[in-house]
Amino acid sequence: MNYQGKKAAYYTLGCKLNFSETSTIASSLNEVGFDRVDFNEKADLYVINTCSVTNQGDKSSRNIIRKAVKLNPNAMVVVVGCYSQLKPDEIGNIEGVDLVLGTQEKFHIPSWLGDLEKKDQTEIHTTRLQNIKDYHRAFSWGDRTRSFLKVQDGCDYYCSFCTIPHARGKSRNDSILNTVKEAEKAVDKGFKEIILTGVNIGDYGKSTNENFYDLLVALEKVKGLHRLRISSVEPNLLKDQIIELVAKSKILMPHFHIPLQSGSDEILSLMKRKYSTGLFASRIKKIRELIPDAFIGVDVIAGTNGETEELFQESFDFINSLEVSQLHAFPYSERSGTQALKIPWKIEVKERKLRTQKYINLSEKKLLAFYKKNLDSSKTVLFEEQNDKSLMTGFTENYIRIETSYNPDLVNNLAKVKLLSLGANGNVNIAFDS
Ligand code: SF4
Repeated sequence: MNYQGKKAAYYTLGCKLNFSETSTIASSLNEVGFDRVDFNEKADLYVINTCSVTNQGDKSSRNIIRKAVKLNPNAMVVVVGCYSQLKPDEIGNIEGVDLVLGTQEKFHIPSWLGDLEKKDQTEIHTTRLQNIKDYHRAFSWGDRTRSFLKVQDGCDYYCSFCTIPHARGKSRNDSILNTVKEAEKAVDKGFKEIILTGVNIGDYGKSTNENFYDLLVALEKVKGLHRLRISSVEPNLLKDQIIELVAKSKILMPHFHIPLQSGSDEILSLMKRKYSTGLFASRIKKIRELIPDAFIGVDVIAGTNGETEELFQESFDFINSLEVSQLHAFPYSERSGTQALKIPWKIEVKERKLRTQKYINLSEKKLLAFYKKNLDSSKTVLFEEQNDKSLMTGFTENYIRIETSYNPDLVNNLAKVKLLSLGANGNVNIAFDS
């Protein structure tokens, strides 16, 4: 069927992986004639790519679905993503939703659209978890200066608090050869920086008998690529070999994102994580030894079941002792079907929020110290496109956000700068190196 002249609008919630997959979905719809329009415009088709990592993810997804239905009550509304796979009936109960497609089905939207007429009843199409096996390539483009390249999907870890393996299935990936080809396509589109994304990217290679290190070595050689960021890697999979590669690479940026989740060994064990605080501390030490100015972001969950006041304090003190640059802290959120629900000691939602705030305050302190440590140094910045044309922002190799006056010639270009001072809004002021 051809949908020439029809308009499609997209909304993505959640992680970078979702962003990359929305681009692939948009390409498949573009091939059958749809023109992409802004989500706030009146469209013939709305595709909402949902997130279900927390209760808040579910709630935000529902709000956006309702917004799409309001924007054009006659448009077809298609809902995909983790929330669709996990709770399709909950979405099906929202008035105005035509199609709910699961993890496997979301990449075949054109085959479900028919004549684009609104359906009398919501259609739900999902595949059982154990049968989700397909891998679909994706990289994001169109709305950001940097591209998120999907290198892996699914997860075999089943941490006790996490619902993602129930939504995305087993760990799987494409070959190094094909992943490099995707990276080349992103470079051909003009991207100078690529950020690797997936559910558990350090686990790369399971389905092709390859490994993450070899993938990095191959991607480093992509012609025309200036920067490659790894994004999140589980601490037990962040091997010395990878840190050493980043330390000597001109393409791999000195930027690590490592999920810790708790700084208490007792809680890590309840979470069924695959490392101890000792292992985690050794990863930070190794990075700091080889790359003293690397940016290190750390994920942490506050108030998970079993986290007594003492264990929270133990976690807080451990994280405080680490030389990391920023924390990404979230309150624990109960997810149905997860093992953590069986842990008897529950923390009040209010207390979870209080603990999260303590981590956020600590994060601000750490980020400030990291930025201050880097002042007076020379760095290279990739400047980003802005909606607000009064200011230009960008990131250094080690992920320091800088700002300067807007100059369209700088967008998606690299320039050498000196980091001068901290600005009022938390960015760093710069001078251009002559
Ligand atoms: S590693 Fe753990 S937290 Fe991360 S996606 Fe897999 S199960 Fe979830």
